[in-house]
Amino acid sequence: CGIVGILGTSPATPRILESLARLEYRGYDSAGIATIEGGKLDRRRAPGKLSELRAVIEAQPLSGNNGIGHTRWATHGEPTKANAHPHMTDQVAIVHNGIIENFRPLKEELLAKGVTFEGETDTEVVARLLTAYLNEGMAPRDAFQKTLGRLVGAFALCVLIKGEDDLMFGAREGSPLVVGFGEGENYLGSDAMALASLSSKLIYLEEGDWAELTHDSVQVFDKAGKAVKRPTTISQVAA
Ligand code: GLU
Repeated sequence: CGIVGILGTSPATPRILESLARLEYRGYDSAGIATIEGGKLDRRRAPGKLSELRAVIEAQPLSGNNGIGHTRWATHGEPTKANAHPHMTDQVAIVHNGIIENFRPLKEELLAKGVTFEGETDTEVVARLLTAYLNEGMAPRDAFQKTLGRLVGAFALCVLIKGEDDLMFGAREGSPLVVGFGEGENYLGSDAMALASLSSKLIYLEEGDWAELTHDSVQVFDKAGKAVKRPTTISQVAA
Protein backbone atom coordinates (compact mmCIF):
# COMPACT_ATOMS: atom_id res chain seq x y z
CA CYS A 1 0.00 0.00 0.00
CA GLY A 2 3.03 2.24 -0.22
CA ILE A 3 5.95 2.78 -2.57
CA VAL A 4 9.32 4.44 -2.31
CA GLY A 5 12.19 4.54 -4.81
CA ILE A 6 15.64 6.06 -4.37
CA LEU A 7 18.45 6.74 -6.82
CA GLY A 8 20.89 7.78 -4.13
CA THR A 9 24.47 8.40 -3.09
CA SER A 10 24.38 6.51 0.23
CA PRO A 11 23.05 3.07 1.22
CA ALA A 12 19.42 2.82 0.15
CA THR A 13 18.08 0.07 2.40
CA PRO A 14 17.96 2.00 5.72
CA ARG A 15 16.49 5.03 3.95
CA ILE A 16 13.82 2.93 2.27
CA LEU A 17 12.95 1.24 5.58
CA GLU A 18 12.50 4.66 7.16
CA SER A 19 10.19 5.77 4.35
CA LEU A 20 8.18 2.54 4.51
CA ALA A 21 7.73 3.13 8.24
CA ARG A 22 6.16 6.49 7.42
CA LEU A 23 3.71 4.67 5.15
CA GLU A 24 2.67 2.13 7.82
CA TYR A 25 -0.38 4.23 8.67
CA ARG A 26 -1.96 3.07 5.40
CA GLY A 27 -1.97 -0.56 6.55
CA TYR A 28 -0.18 -3.49 4.88
CA ASP A 29 0.34 -7.24 5.11
CA SER A 30 3.88 -7.66 3.78
CA ALA A 31 6.88 -5.63 2.69
CA GLY A 32 10.00 -5.81 0.56
CA ILE A 33 12.97 -3.97 -0.88
CA ALA A 34 15.06 -4.46 -4.04
CA THR A 35 18.33 -2.71 -4.77
CA ILE A 36 20.59 -2.46 -7.78
CA GLU A 37 24.38 -2.36 -7.41
CA GLY A 38 26.93 -2.90 -10.16
CA GLY A 39 24.02 -3.61 -12.48
CA LYS A 40 22.83 -6.53 -10.34
CA LEU A 41 19.37 -6.68 -8.78
CA ASP A 42 18.85 -8.16 -5.34
CA ARG A 43 15.89 -8.20 -2.94
CA ARG A 44 14.54 -9.11 0.48
CA ARG A 45 10.86 -9.71 1.26
CA ALA A 46 8.79 -10.75 4.25
CA PRO A 47 5.13 -11.24 5.08
CA GLY A 48 3.96 -9.38 8.17
CA LYS A 49 5.26 -6.21 9.76
CA LEU A 50 8.29 -4.16 8.81
CA SER A 51 10.04 -5.67 11.84
CA GLU A 52 9.96 -9.00 9.97
CA LEU A 53 11.60 -7.42 6.94
CA ARG A 54 14.17 -5.72 9.17
CA ALA A 55 15.04 -9.11 10.70
CA VAL A 56 15.51 -10.64 7.25
CA ILE A 57 17.78 -7.76 6.24
CA GLU A 58 19.77 -7.98 9.47
CA ALA A 59 20.43 -11.65 8.78
CA GLN A 60 21.22 -10.96 5.12
CA PRO A 61 22.15 -7.32 4.49
CA LEU A 62 21.06 -5.66 1.24
CA SER A 63 23.65 -3.24 -0.13
CA GLY A 64 23.41 -0.64 -2.88
CA ASN A 65 22.62 3.07 -3.07
CA ASN A 66 19.65 2.63 -5.38
CA GLY A 67 16.50 0.75 -4.58
CA ILE A 68 12.74 0.41 -4.40
CA GLY A 69 10.55 -0.54 -1.46
CA HIS A 70 6.96 -1.61 -0.97
CA THR A 71 4.30 -2.24 1.62
CA ARG A 72 1.62 -4.53 0.21
CA TRP A 73 -2.10 -4.69 0.80
CA ALA A 74 -2.89 -7.92 -1.06
CA THR A 75 -5.65 -7.80 -3.67
CA HIS A 76 -4.64 -10.84 -5.79
CA GLY A 77 -2.72 -13.67 -4.13
CA GLU A 78 -2.30 -14.46 -0.44
CA PRO A 79 0.03 -12.32 1.68
CA THR A 80 2.94 -14.77 1.37
CA LYS A 81 6.62 -14.16 0.73
CA ALA A 82 6.27 -15.35 -2.89
CA ASN A 83 3.54 -12.78 -3.51
CA ALA A 84 5.31 -9.93 -1.71
CA HIS A 85 6.83 -7.20 -3.82
CA PRO A 86 9.28 -6.37 -5.33
CA HIS A 87 8.53 -8.83 -8.10
CA MET A 88 11.76 -9.70 -9.81
CA THR A 89 12.80 -11.45 -13.01
CA ASP A 90 16.30 -11.84 -14.46
CA GLN A 91 15.75 -8.38 -16.01
CA VAL A 92 13.62 -6.17 -13.75
CA ALA A 93 12.40 -5.45 -10.22
CA ILE A 94 8.96 -3.90 -9.80
CA VAL A 95 6.75 -2.59 -7.01
CA HIS A 96 3.08 -1.79 -7.58
CA ASN A 97 0.14 -0.36 -5.71
CA GLY A 98 -3.32 -0.85 -7.18
CA ILE A 99 -4.90 -3.51 -9.36
CA ILE A 100 -4.11 -4.63 -12.93
CA GLU A 101 -7.68 -5.45 -14.06
CA ASN A 102 -6.64 -7.29 -17.24
CA PHE A 103 -3.92 -9.41 -15.66
CA ARG A 104 -5.66 -12.69 -16.58
CA PRO A 105 -5.55 -12.30 -20.39
CA LEU A 106 -2.02 -10.92 -20.15
CA LYS A 107 -0.96 -13.89 -18.04
CA GLU A 108 -2.59 -16.32 -20.53
CA GLU A 109 -0.67 -14.65 -23.34
CA LEU A 110 2.65 -14.97 -21.48
CA LEU A 111 1.97 -18.55 -20.35
CA ALA A 112 1.27 -19.47 -23.97
CA LYS A 113 4.76 -18.14 -24.80
CA GLY A 114 6.30 -20.39 -22.16
CA VAL A 115 6.84 -17.70 -19.51
CA THR A 116 6.70 -19.09 -15.96
CA PHE A 117 5.32 -17.36 -12.85
CA GLU A 118 6.35 -17.79 -9.23
CA GLY A 119 3.37 -16.15 -7.49
CA GLU A 120 -0.30 -15.30 -7.93
CA THR A 121 -0.28 -11.51 -8.01
CA ASP A 122 -1.59 -9.29 -10.77
CA THR A 123 1.68 -7.35 -10.41
CA GLU A 124 3.92 -10.20 -11.50
CA VAL A 125 2.34 -9.95 -14.96
CA VAL A 126 3.81 -6.45 -15.29
CA ALA A 127 7.28 -7.73 -14.43
CA ARG A 128 7.02 -10.66 -16.86
CA LEU A 129 5.58 -8.53 -19.68
CA LEU A 130 8.29 -5.88 -19.35
CA THR A 131 10.89 -8.66 -19.29
CA ALA A 132 9.44 -10.15 -22.49
CA TYR A 133 9.78 -6.80 -24.28
CA LEU A 134 13.35 -6.33 -23.02
CA ASN A 135 14.16 -9.87 -24.20
CA GLU A 136 12.89 -8.87 -27.64
CA GLY A 137 15.68 -6.29 -27.65
CA MET A 138 13.64 -3.17 -26.89
CA ALA A 139 15.38 -0.28 -25.12
CA PRO A 140 14.27 0.13 -21.47
CA ARG A 141 12.20 3.26 -22.10
CA ASP A 142 10.42 1.75 -25.10
CA ALA A 143 9.79 -1.51 -23.29
CA PHE A 144 8.36 0.33 -20.27
CA GLN A 145 6.11 2.53 -22.38
CA LYS A 146 4.88 -0.45 -24.36
CA THR A 147 4.15 -2.33 -21.13
CA LEU A 148 2.15 0.60 -19.75
CA GLY A 149 0.10 0.69 -22.94
CA ARG A 150 -1.07 -2.87 -22.27
CA LEU A 151 -2.22 -2.32 -18.70
CA VAL A 152 -5.83 -1.68 -17.69
CA GLY A 153 -6.57 -0.80 -14.10
CA ALA A 154 -5.17 1.31 -11.31
CA PHE A 155 -1.49 1.49 -10.69
CA ALA A 156 1.44 3.29 -9.22
CA LEU A 157 4.57 1.55 -10.42
CA CYS A 158 8.26 1.86 -9.68
CA VAL A 159 10.79 -0.13 -11.72
CA LEU A 160 14.51 -0.95 -11.75
CA ILE A 161 16.21 -2.56 -14.75
CA LYS A 162 19.18 -4.95 -14.61
CA GLY A 163 22.43 -3.36 -15.75
CA GLU A 164 21.10 0.16 -15.15
CA ASP A 165 22.22 1.61 -11.81
CA ASP A 166 21.34 5.11 -12.98
CA LEU A 167 17.77 4.54 -14.09
CA MET A 168 14.36 4.24 -12.45
CA PHE A 169 10.90 4.37 -14.00
CA GLY A 170 7.65 5.39 -12.36
CA ALA A 171 4.08 5.50 -13.62
CA ARG A 172 0.80 6.71 -12.26
CA GLU A 173 -2.73 5.76 -13.24
CA GLY A 174 -5.45 5.73 -10.62
CA SER A 175 -2.95 5.53 -7.75
CA PRO A 176 -0.88 8.54 -6.77
CA LEU A 177 2.87 8.81 -7.33
CA VAL A 178 5.18 11.69 -6.48
CA VAL A 179 8.68 12.57 -7.73
CA GLY A 180 11.13 14.08 -5.23
CA PHE A 181 14.34 15.97 -5.99
CA GLY A 182 17.65 15.78 -4.08
CA GLU A 183 21.33 16.69 -4.51
CA GLY A 184 22.59 14.19 -7.08
CA GLU A 185 19.68 11.99 -6.04
CA ASN A 186 16.07 11.60 -7.13
CA TYR A 187 13.13 9.75 -5.61
CA LEU A 188 9.68 8.32 -6.19
CA GLY A 189 7.04 7.83 -3.52
CA SER A 190 3.35 7.24 -2.93
CA ASP A 191 2.95 10.63 -1.29
CA ALA A 192 4.76 13.50 0.40
CA MET A 193 4.87 11.45 3.62
CA ALA A 194 6.82 8.67 1.92
CA LEU A 195 9.45 11.21 0.87
CA ALA A 196 9.36 13.38 4.02
CA SER A 197 12.83 12.28 5.19
CA LEU A 198 14.27 12.63 1.67
CA SER A 199 12.91 15.72 -0.05
CA SER A 200 10.36 18.51 0.17
CA LYS A 201 10.70 19.52 -3.48
CA LEU A 202 8.09 17.45 -5.28
CA ILE A 203 6.22 16.92 -8.52
CA TYR A 204 2.82 15.22 -8.36
CA LEU A 205 2.46 13.06 -11.47
CA GLU A 206 -0.87 13.49 -13.22
CA GLU A 207 -3.17 10.72 -14.46
CA GLY A 208 -1.45 8.64 -17.12
CA ASP A 209 1.96 10.24 -16.52
CA TRP A 210 5.15 8.25 -16.33
CA ALA A 211 8.66 9.34 -15.45
CA GLU A 212 12.24 8.38 -16.20
CA LEU A 213 14.68 9.24 -13.44
CA THR A 214 18.46 9.23 -13.22
CA HIS A 215 20.51 10.57 -10.29
CA ASP A 216 20.69 13.95 -12.05
CA SER A 217 17.57 14.17 -14.19
CA VAL A 218 13.83 13.69 -14.17
CA GLN A 219 11.79 13.51 -17.36
CA VAL A 220 8.01 13.29 -17.22
CA PHE A 221 5.88 12.01 -20.10
CA ASP A 222 2.14 11.91 -20.61
CA LYS A 223 0.22 8.82 -21.61
CA ALA A 224 0.89 9.48 -25.30
CA GLY A 225 4.64 9.62 -24.61
CA LYS A 226 4.93 13.39 -25.04
CA ALA A 227 7.43 15.11 -22.71
CA VAL A 228 5.50 17.34 -20.29
CA LYS A 229 6.33 19.81 -17.55
CA ARG A 230 4.48 19.46 -14.25
CA PRO A 231 4.56 22.11 -11.54
CA THR A 232 7.03 21.73 -8.68
CA THR A 233 5.58 22.09 -5.19
CA ILE A 234 7.23 22.44 -1.81
CA SER A 235 5.86 19.88 0.66
CA GLN A 236 4.74 21.08 4.10
CA VAL A 237 5.18 17.61 5.61
CA ALA A 238 7.90 17.93 8.24
CA ALA A 239 10.89 15.60 8.07
N1 GLU B 1 -2.54 -5.81 -6.52
C1 GLU B 1 -1.21 -5.92 -6.01
C2 GLU B 1 -1.06 -7.17 -5.15
O1 GLU B 1 -2.01 -7.73 -4.70
C3 GLU B 1 -0.76 -4.67 -5.25
C4 GLU B 1 -1.47 -4.47 -3.94
C5 GLU B 1 -1.09 -3.15 -3.27
O2 GLU B 1 -1.57 -2.08 -3.69
O3 GLU B 1 -0.28 -3.18 -2.32
O4 GLU B 1 0.00 -7.60 -4.93
